[in-house]
Order: sequence, then structure tokens, then C-alpha cells
Amino acid sequence: MLVKAAVLREPQAPYTIEDVELDEPGPGQVRVRIVGAGICHTDVVPRGVSLSPLPIVTGHEGSGVVDAVGEGVEGIAAGDHVVLTFDSCGECEQCRENHPAYCETFLMRNLVGRELDGTTCMHDAGGEEVSARWFGQSSFATFAIANARNTVVVDKDLPLDKLGPLGCGILTGAGSIVSAMDVQPGRSLVVTGAGAVGLAAIMAASEVREKSLRVKFTSALTWNQQFNIFGFPLKITARSTCSPAGRCRRLRGFRDVRQA
Ligand SMILES: [Zn+2]
Ligand SMILES: [Zn+2]
Repeated sequence: MLVKAAVLREPQAPYTIEDVELDEPGPGQVRVRIVGAGICHTDVVPRGVSLSPLPIVTGHEGSGVVDAVGEGVEGIAAGDHVVLTFDSCGECEQCRENHPAYCETFLMRNLVGRELDGTTCMHDAGGEEVSARWFGQSSFATFAIANARNTVVVDKDLPLDKLGPLGCGILTGAGSIVSAMDVQPGRSLVVTGAGAVGLAAIMAASEVREKSLRVKFTSALTWNQQFNIFGFPLKITARSTCSPAGRCRRLRGFRDVRQA
């Protein structure tokens, strides 16, 4: 079917709004009329050094209404309201142990924009292939093809146009608190950035991990400024050894920083 999509043709070029041809949903896939889509920093990746063949349609925080379902899809029907999230195989060891974000095929399924076999479900007006499997959805379009596995049915009473960021930003921020870091009451928490991820982390910290959790929030400041503002001993709790952690460790009075 003919749909409109925001197509990235050159790394530094603006998106072009184009009429493109989208395939019918294949086995295990659904076609979704996109109602809302968040934008995440990851959507900028194809503008740099990336695995994605251009032209590409990005967008990985889509929400919408199921328009058609492919063969073998169960539990999702036309008319369902859905949120699209990242894709995973459901069969590898990580997926079987409920860690789909660490799926062995995560990179190919989410950060390339193609099917695993290199094909795509979208062509432009001239018949050229357009990468349209970004995070198993490519939701910067009026319609998107998603896999049933990365499609989540939601209540029709919810504001569908605002639900897209649940698929990445909210999942990432809240998941950092309750899952990856398993932040416990009594810990201090530093959140930088006021985007969907940071705000979701704060919501999770205050609502899921009890009110006793002390939350300090800042945004758009340098790390030095943040510490001058806070002015009290902090415990930084995070998983990776990113640069903010290194900076924390070099500061006086922060010797109890264990991880960041
Ligand atoms: Zn994202
Ligand atoms: Zn997997």
C-alpha cells in the first residue's frame, strides 16, 4: 500500500516526506497505522557511522492501531491499539531467560533497518529499496510493519498518541532503576537529562522504589556544576563505567562511589 514516510537519504540531509510503497505484513507480522511516535537519540545513529543502508526510515517509539495482521499472528487483531518496542528473537538463550534486550540478534534486528536476510518491506517511488525495519518498526511513517513479538496491545482508554515513548525511553529509564541497577530505598540517585529516559527513571525511583529514595535531578548542566550545586556526599549507582563515573571518582569526598 502507498504510505507517507520521513526518509533519510543522506547522513546530513533533512528528512524528506515521501510517498512510498509498504508491503503487506508477512508471517508473524502486523501492519500498524501510526498515531504517535517519539524521537530518541538512537534515531540519529544512521546520520553517522552505522550499519544502516540509506535511504532509511527510522523511528522506534511508535504507537498506533493495527491495520492488518499476517499469517500465524495470535493475540493481536485489526483495530487493536498497540505500542511498538524493540525487536528480539524469543528463542536465543538471552530471550529465553527474559533478557530480550540482550538478544543475540538484537543488533541486526534493531540497528540495521533490514530483515535478517537483508530484505526490506518498503520501496520508494522509483522502486529503490528503503530500509524500513529499524527496531522492527520504522515508525516515522503513516504505517509501519512490525513483528507480533515487538507489538504490545494496550488499553483503548489510554491516550494512544502519547504512548510511543513507552517502547524505548520509558522502558529504558524505568528499567534502569527497577531492573538493571535494582536501586533500593535509602540509596542516593543522580539522574542527568530531562528527556523521556531521565524522567522515567525519576518516576520509577519515586513511585516504584518508595518515597524514601532521595532523588536529585538536574539537566543541561556540566558535571562540575552539578556537584557544586549538590554540595553533599553522593553515592552514584549505575552499571557501566561511563565517563561521568570516572569524573565522580576523581572528585574529593566521593570515595564511596562504587559504580556508575
Ligand atoms: Zn530509543
Ligand atoms: Zn533472542
